[in-house]
Amino acid sequence: MNLINNKNILIVDEDQTALNYLEENLLKNIQNITILKAISYKECIKIVLNPDINIDIALINYQLSDIKDGLAVNFVLKKNIPTIAILNNDSQEIHNWILKSDIIDYISKTPKCDIKFITQTILRVLHNYDTHILLVDDSPTQLILAKQMLEHLKLNVTTALNGQEALDILNDPKNQDKFSLVLTDYNMPIMDGMELTKEIRKLYKKDQLGIIALSVSDKPTISTQFIKLGANDYLNKPYTQVELNTRINSNLEILELFKKTRDMANKDFLTGAFNRRYFFDSGEAIVLKAIRENKNVAVAMFDIDKFKNINDTYGHDIGDIAIKEVVSILNQNLRHSDLMARVGGEEFCVLLDNISKDDLITLFEKIRVSFENNILEVGDKKFGFTVSIGVYYGLNNNLEYMIKKADDGLYYCKNNGRNQVHLIEE
Ligand code: GH3
Ligand code: MG
Ligand code: MG
Repeated sequence: MNLINNKNILIVDEDQTALNYLEENLLKNIQNITILKAISYKECIKIVLNPDINIDIALINYQLSDIKDGLAVNFVLKKNIPTIAILNNDSQEIHNWILKSDIIDYISKTPKCDIKFITQTILRVLHNYDTHILLVDDSPTQLILAKQMLEHLKLNVTTALNGQEALDILNDPKNQDKFSLVLTDYNMPIMDGMELTKEIRKLYKKDQLGIIALSVSDKPTISTQFIKLGANDYLNKPYTQVELNTRINSNLEILELFKKTRDMANKDFLTGAFNRRYFFDSGEAIVLKAIRENKNVAVAMFDIDKFKNINDTYGHDIGDIAIKEVVSILNQNLRHSDLMARVGGEEFCVLLDNISKDDLITLFEKIRVSFENNILEVGDKKFGFTVSIGVYYGLNNNLEYMIKKADDGLYYCKNNGRNQVHLIEE
């Protein structure tokens, strides 16, 4: 499972074997994490208080010899770090403590830690750091309370005081695809929760943006109406932190599963970039829009120069790394609205609208130079590579025709020394 940014996980346990077991399995199951280990409360404090280290999630044993039971967990929780407690046994005393504690979950060590469960719980919290929720309620008190509860789960919360305000936020191009869930109250001035649900469903399907409605429990028909209008779920008011956790987590998990399925159909497995099929589906819509607005589009074909040499010299695995590097450099230079896809082994296609000829040449020249200056380091091997870029600029209702023209430009580059941009204009 992939995470966007590197995350730090702290594990505190006196049992070195348990520490190593957890470390090994978490590294195997979760990408982009660093594990920090401590075998005592004393070591744990040192890491937590180090201003250079930011802990994203902690697994702390309830019992450590150098501190009273439970206090190490409480110490880490006080530092606002989401914490999972590790329990050596299941006494009544521990259960009473769990009920009062702010831990996000607990795991029992006996007979053996359930690694799948731990991984899932950790991933949920780590994903929440990158997950945005839109919270809609006209009561400032309720809004603050719910916001705190969501932030306890490490979710990013944006608030709105009524349906219209929420819609404006969702419609802002800056926020395109930003939110995973909308949590909305029913009774609100200007636009109520049901009206909002109706409007959202004109823009996003149920599997693209989730809606959880908050309904007052003494009016059971409201929740049914919400579901009929397209809400994914509802939560009775008032609710506890535990109830909120369960609803939010299960809905986010389902939405992520939907996203994974969509990605599998639309994305290339090696690089995570869109595939050819998605490029054509999505590209047609961009071209239609450009025709309506009578604006030119640009289609660019990228191809790695002498890529066979990289495979032959360093091996196929390093060739794959070079291909992934292309996606990373293109993503750094393109806008969110530009369409980019891997259309062949080491060939990529980009479709841009709303760009002038001058900006176009500057952009592709900048990208070409980025490749030229980039040095890849894999193990003890250091190498670079260049790309050739064929660009079509104009407007035609046939996307395939424009791609063919960009390909002609690419062919020109390849015959003319490579590592260059060639523009074909109409
Ligand atoms: P040119 O400058 O003319 O483009 O030379 P080139 O060597 O890049 O030529 P060509 O486009 O014919 O070679 C593409 C090579 O890419 C051939 C193929 O073995 C390799 N390739 C295709 N897909 C993959 C892949 O997924 N991984 C790796 N490592 N290599 C791939
Ligand atoms: Mg090539
Ligand atoms: Mg090629």
